[in-house]
Amino acid sequence: MSADSFRRTKIIFTLGPATESEAMLEQMFRAGADVVRLNMAHATHDWTRDVIRRIRAVSARLGREVAIMMDIKGPEIRTGDLAAPIELKAGEIFDFTVKPGAEPGSGEEVRSVDVNYANLVNDVEVGAIVLVDNGLLRLEVLAKSAAHLRCRVLIPGQLSSRRHINLPGVRVNLPAFTAKDRADTLVGLAAGIDFVALSFVREAKDVQQLRTFLAEQKSSVRIVAKIEDQSAIANLDEIVAACDALMVARGDLGIECAFEELPVIQRRAVRACLAQGRPVIVATHMLESMITQPVPTRAEITDVANAVYEFADCVMLSGETTVGKYPVECVQMLDKIARRIEAEDDLEKFEPTVFTGERMKVLHSAVVLANQIPNSKILTFTRHGFVAHGLAALRPARAPIFAFTPSPMLQRQLRLVRAVEPFLMPLANEPDATIENALALLRRAGRIAPGDKLIVATDILSLDRLVDSVQLRTVT
Ligand code: PEP
Repeated sequence: MSADSFRRTKIIFTLGPATESEAMLEQMFRAGADVVRLNMAHATHDWTRDVIRRIRAVSARLGREVAIMMDIKGPEIRTGDLAAPIELKAGEIFDFTVKPGAEPGSGEEVRSVDVNYANLVNDVEVGAIVLVDNGLLRLEVLAKSAAHLRCRVLIPGQLSSRRHINLPGVRVNLPAFTAKDRADTLVGLAAGIDFVALSFVREAKDVQQLRTFLAEQKSSVRIVAKIEDQSAIANLDEIVAACDALMVARGDLGIECAFEELPVIQRRAVRACLAQGRPVIVATHMLESMITQPVPTRAEITDVANAVYEFADCVMLSGETTVGKYPVECVQMLDKIARRIEAEDDLEKFEPTVFTGERMKVLHSAVVLANQIPNSKILTFTRHGFVAHGLAALRPARAPIFAFTPSPMLQRQLRLVRAVEPFLMPLANEPDATIENALALLRRAGRIAPGDKLIVATDILSLDRLVDSVQLRTVT
């Protein structure tokens, strides 16, 4: 990637049969993928360990570090196994059975399926809507007993095994971080993941529970909160404050909320993240038609463009790269659309939040300077990520943020953050030596050239004290 063709918006793709081979990983990384997502709803532990090893091997070979995000499924309700798919008819009476193997509630001929959540009958009221398989099937609750929910089919269709159930507007009393999530996360931590994405976050407490668990494991893995239902929208600001990054999980959001609310929620969520300086991911159905077609629809192109215009940090691919026929082309397509939109003048009109705290004010002055000097680049050093995240939160209009860190995990985690290009380098005790080392590395990587203007946001020694500074340097 040359200095001129730097892409600010980052690309996440979900790993699956279409992309899990070494050869495909190599192509996906070469096309510009920044983060790999492992969806634990469909993963065994052996597969997880195996693909993490493969991802690390391919990225080491290419010299392109990518981050790994383990997406744990959280409080998800699913139907049980069926001997064969059932064709549900409009108006049919159908039972969801919460005690496996229990007989439906009466002697009538009523078909049924088991559900993996015994409390379902307590959480759901008569009259509630039950959606199955991404909302493809719609049922209304007519009656309930201790063993089953009796429903009428409103929208018919085929029901197969282990389908996801959504209950719009219902507060499900499942724990936020389940026993399966805990077991999955332990495997991920041992294998070397960089992010855990927590599904169906409903309040800040859910994130804090996972944070406590990660602290007990002495892990620096960062938390992505997935907002997918109405409780998350009601508690948006506290969730943004509690997490390290937010995912607008539009797949489930589009089922749990009225569909016309989805663009409104996306915009609110992205703005809430920008206001608090949290990275934000726009996910799901971005290039859905490319699962089977080599080119996206015009509406999909515009959807991706909108996420870039909204200043999101990342766009994400799911089915497009797990089972799709054109996964590499999808990454290339996102890359192309993002670069084109980022070249628009509108993207210079960002009004950043005025953050409190002296360090953020100093970083703000660095971004103001970068925005006034054409073709400038920002250079910074970060041990814990604060300065890199802080500079990115201020959304420099054009300048890339070259962030140097001694931590391999932080280098990978910064792949998620808009406009940050992370580099791994030990930081010398002498700030000047650190800057010189970074310049040498950037020259070798072809990322700077003589005459370039660099805004260096770093601490320097003044007498014997470290002070925050912003320096303007010309590359020689
Ligand atoms: C979503 O619902 O949009 C999402 C990303 O979550 P999942 O794929 O886990 O359902």
